[in-house]
Amino acid sequence: MMTLSILVIGIAILLVLGVVAYYTTQVVRQRWESGVLDREYERMAEKKKLLEERKREERERKDKEEYEYNVLKSNVLVALGLEDWNAIPQYDECVTVYSQIALNNYDIVKFLKEHGGVATFEKIENSIKEKKAVAKILREFLEQNEYEKYFQYGRLKQDIQNILYNANGYRVSVRYTSVEGNNLGHNTLVITQECINRFKNNPTLLMDKTEYNSYLKEQQRKALAQKQHDFYERVNGVIDYANENKETLIIKGSQERLDALIASLFDRTVNSIKKVKTTDSEEWELIANYISEIKGDIEKIVGENRRILEYYQSADFQRVKESCETLMSTQREFNEYITQKAESISQLFGKRVTRGETVNEDEYAYIRPYKKTISPFVAEVSAAVFASAENNPLEYVVKYFYPNNDRYPEQIQKLQLLVEELETLKEAKQIIENYKAEYQQYLGDVPDYVMKEDEAGFYERLGFANIDERVLEVEYKFAYTSGGGKVGRSFPFPMTEENIVEVIELLEGKLTAKAFAQEQRALMTKKLREHIKERDNFTCCNCGNSTHVEPNLLLEIDHIIPVAKGGYTEEKNLQTLCWKCNRSKSDKILA
Ligand SMILES: [Zn+2]
Repeated sequence: MMTLSILVIGIAILLVLGVVAYYTTQVVRQRWESGVLDREYERMAEKKKLLEERKREERERKDKEEYEYNVLKSNVLVALGLEDWNAIPQYDECVTVYSQIALNNYDIVKFLKEHGGVATFEKIENSIKEKKAVAKILREFLEQNEYEKYFQYGRLKQDIQNILYNANGYRVSVRYTSVEGNNLGHNTLVITQECINRFKNNPTLLMDKTEYNSYLKEQQRKALAQKQHDFYERVNGVIDYANENKETLIIKGSQERLDALIASLFDRTVNSIKKVKTTDSEEWELIANYISEIKGDIEKIVGENRRILEYYQSADFQRVKESCETLMSTQREFNEYITQKAESISQLFGKRVTRGETVNEDEYAYIRPYKKTISPFVAEVSAAVFASAENNPLEYVVKYFYPNNDRYPEQIQKLQLLVEELETLKEAKQIIENYKAEYQQYLGDVPDYVMKEDEAGFYERLGFANIDERVLEVEYKFAYTSGGGKVGRSFPFPMTEENIVEVIELLEGKLTAKAFAQEQRALMTKKLREHIKERDNFTCCNCGNSTHVEPNLLLEIDHIIPVAKGGYTEEKNLQTLCWKCNRSKSDKILA
């Protein structure tokens, strides 16, 4: 029994001991393990911290690098004078297709056809040109620049090379996507200038027949416009030449001849150029010939004038001038007196209706203006007015050249003076002709062409008064030009003594009774002048000189009491004076 009890107790003790040992072991193990973990944990935390630190540093370094790179890039951009790095984009245009077959078949021809065909060439070519220009700048930069020492230059160089890769033409991105928009394939088309040239040389590659025909028509239209432009320029060349040389023309009537040539150039070419319908029309040759013809005529006029001008500047002409000098010294005063008279007389004709610059109504403004010589007494009127003026010229002369009623009394006086002075000038002209005859012996070596082309100018340069026919025989002119500039008509109204008298009477008829009473006076007609001279035996009533003594003496008829002071044109108030005495009398009155 005892043994059993001991055994039981022993077992019990062993069990207790076992349990105790187990728990002890467990506790110890747990404690040990937790210590290890803590250390491990700390270690890992440290490592993580270190890692984050490094990452941060790395990021900062990269940010700095990136920042510096951007600064470098923008500096280079400024140095290159470019707006941004996208001046050469990777793609100029994007196209989307929805099947693999479509992607495979999408080529340059298809692209061009879908995007306007030839009409798109200009845009593409411009884009290629721009890219080439930028690429040139970039290539030159890569060849030589001051940035090579920079740390990130290698990267910049690579970037620029990538950009240059895109400069090889007009780049089209062709994308194949699913309906949902997922990318399933991609292709790049590069359209080069050579490629465009090929299509240009053979536009049919891109066109169906209708398109090709209208393209051809457009080409023809352009060619025609170009041809017209070329011809307008030819006309302009002649006009420029005329404008440049006009002021240098000295031979009387040259400027008017030039005007007439330019006017017919306008008439015969400008409208015709506009009307020709095809580039191969025979009309072109006719127009070209006409332009050359006019040009030749104008050059001839300019040449003639130059030759004459050269003569006047020559020693030969100086010699002629010198040998005539003594003779001229006695006649200079008379010539100056007459020159003055001729100038003042031209002020006595009514209002100067003038034509200004030739304005050519050319819708394209291709033709340059030509400055026409101002022809004083020409009224440009409408067809209707022209017809009426033709039927009743006197009435229309008054209407156009004496338009101001208030000035009638003044104008009547002027016209009366004109009647008197015209006659004197005609006599003076004859006297000057007589003088010229006396000079003939000194003019032996004057070239024929000078006398032939510029006799009046020649004598004027020697000191002779020049009494232009246009002063003695003034004409009022009515002109009418049809819309197209093709038909020009005009008729003159010559201011002969008879016509002037008629104009005076008409103006007087339009005056009020009171004004009429004041203005009315007898006119000194040619007949009356001759009568007074005969009465006075062609002798100056002041100095006694006469045409019996001096055949070339100019005699004038003088109002003893001047008209301005109430003197009348009647026999007892008129006397014959030689030009010298008449001049000093009017000088005294004026003083
Ligand atoms: Zn006298």
